[in-house]
Amino acid sequence: MITVTKTFLPPLDTYQQLLQGIWDRGQLTNGGPIAEQLEHALRRHLGVKHLLYVSNGTLALQLAIKALGLTGEVLTTPFSYVATTSSLVWENCRPVFVDIDPRSLCLNPALIEAAITPATQAILATHVFGFPCATEAIEQVARRHRLRVIYDAAHAFGVQYRGQSILNYGDISTLSFHATKLFHTGEGGAVVTSSDELAEKLAYMRNFGHQDANTFIGLGINAKNTELHAALGLCVLPHVPALMRRRQALTAEYHRLLAPTAVQCLAALIGASNFSYYPVLLPSEAHLLAVVAALGEAAIFPRRYFYPALTALPYVAAGAAACPVATDVAGRVLCLPLHHDLTEADLARIVAIIRRHV
Ligand SMILES: *Cc1c(COP(=O)(O)O)cnc(C)c1O
Repeated sequence: MITVTKTFLPPLDTYQQLLQGIWDRGQLTNGGPIAEQLEHALRRHLGVKHLLYVSNGTLALQLAIKALGLTGEVLTTPFSYVATTSSLVWENCRPVFVDIDPRSLCLNPALIEAAITPATQAILATHVFGFPCATEAIEQVARRHRLRVIYDAAHAFGVQYRGQSILNYGDISTLSFHATKLFHTGEGGAVVTSSDELAEKLAYMRNFGHQDANTFIGLGINAKNTELHAALGLCVLPHVPALMRRRQALTAEYHRLLAPTAVQCLAALIGASNFSYYPVLLPSEAHLLAVVAALGEAAIFPRRYFYPALTALPYVAAGAAACPVATDVAGRVLCLPLHHDLTEADLARIVAIIRRHV
């Protein structure tokens, strides 16, 4: 069986060594030394000023929304994982969808201004598949209209853009360290910011609003993560560069195999990314369904990331007509299997099946 992704597990003995220390200290959570060590290692690895390790990428989004005090309309992308929209609704904001750029599949900055109303407070955009958003254009509009900017960077671990970490753009960026992501801690995530003030606020919000044992600075929630998860992350992190290189090689091989077909390789168009995903566009949804069925018969399971477009969610007031590009793309985009454990022969088998149906 071949699945769209496979969780990388580091050598067990490296994890056991860290567990021994945790057992010796007897501290499992509440900002233990391993969680702090992971934050430090991630700041250095990613090249960011403030990074707070949290329990998952969804709470990271909720903390970002809360820390920026958002309560009104937020312009956002219809082409992302459901958490990008659901976290806004959960935090009592109103998602207003702005269609995507057909090339990068990220929020189209040319369409932002027309969607702004007096109630608009912020932009929440996703670097989907690790493809960088048009950050300059987005932030120019944001400055002009005094909007805050959050980037859902759940796919963008390690992505560099214009000579620095993509995480340094906007007011806050959020990461997910879920087991399916390039770098993971089983469950986990982070909020990233360059602002000292926001970092301080996010820190107390992550821990119930505590200043010290008996003093509360403000409203908070429990978004802490454990020593056990952090230890897993410390063991995975040193392997990330090699994992990325392997995915890069497989990505190039997919490009080569698919070049003569009618399948459009999005990563080949964009260039920059971290090789987390291998999304392709099929000529039609009928082609996509035929490919998915044929691969399924061979026990190969790609994923329809992301289907349907978020405009179709039952709890948002938006029709598919609002974002025709996202609706079209969501119907035709498919993520092919991409992970460290695949071989060039696996890719040849996958592409041979696809070629019979396009
Ligand atoms: C994975 C993901 C999330 C949610 O992260 P969790 O850690 O699973 O809560 C949010 N946004 C995007 C784009 C994601 O892919």
